[in-house]
Amino acid sequence: MDLGISTRTALVSGADSGIGWHTAERLLREGATVVITDLDQGRLDEAAARLPADAGQLYAFAADLTDSGAVASLASMVREAAGPIDILVQSAGITGAQGLFHEIDEQGWANTIEVDLLAPVRLVRAFLDDLRAGGWGRIVFVASEDAVQPYDDELPYCAAKAGVLALAKGLSRSYAHEGLLVNAVSPAFIATPMTDAMMDKRAKQRGTDRDEAIQSFLSEKRPFMEIGRRGEPEEVADVIAFLCSDRASFVNGSNYRVDSGSVATI
Ligand code: NAD
Repeated sequence: MDLGISTRTALVSGADSGIGWHTAERLLREGATVVITDLDQGRLDEAAARLPADAGQLYAFAADLTDSGAVASLASMVREAAGPIDILVQSAGITGAQGLFHEIDEQGWANTIEVDLLAPVRLVRAFLDDLRAGGWGRIVFVASEDAVQPYDDELPYCAAKAGVLALAKGLSRSYAHEGLLVNAVSPAFIATPMTDAMMDKRAKQRGTDRDEAIQSFLSEKRPFMEIGRRGEPEEVADVIAFLCSDRASFVNGSNYRVDSGSVATI
């Protein structure tokens, strides 16, 4: 399926690894111009070197999305190098403060919400004029199954991701008549550095290895993931790429679950 985005320019955050990197790869292979951003320029350059060279044009600019000044500089650099963007994929995120409610202090809440909710808001604010200008645009937020099915050992993350879903839905009302469509994807338990770190911590606590930690996590903590394995980041990137595409021209305000059935409700 031709996604119809070979003349489009996309910015992908959180793109030095995981879902963001695979989304950048997918969009590049469709011929789009892609700007990747993440915290560290060195890691970003390494990530860029692993992306296909024979596809769309690629730029890599680092920015800490918790820093308004850095996001403003990012917007200037992107505009100067690649022009106005048509597509924004917001994938940057952290697991944040973990533990039961009484174990997490206010700073843990603030840090998590800063990265997982305020940074997406900041990024959209910095690029909204560009996204509206062309009469065709796409924003895709990477939320989480946790947004609608909160787990009690990571409530700051769950609350932030619920906020992201509300942000996506609300934004989808404002600019769709101009051609700017806004959607979210909600993955569950994808094989990226984020869940590698979670599983290594679990393995250490249980005195086992990562494979056992994954299997026991699936059976004990994610019983409705019916496919019975971690997802692959490519499997999320494919859905994001579709939502970024011309093929998704009547999809707006949606939340696509890419979770193997993990969210138990319809
Ligand atoms: P990842 O750790 O590979 O990618 C997240 C990226 O965000 C990292 O490269 C990190 O450097 C970047 N980042 C963190 N803080 C940042 C900041 N302040 N400024 C700029 N960049 C920052 O993990 P991933 O699994 O690919 O996560 C991508 C998104 O998917 C996240 O929003 C995450 O919450 C969401 N998600 C992941 C899973 C999963 O199981 N992996 C499940 C549901 C949702």
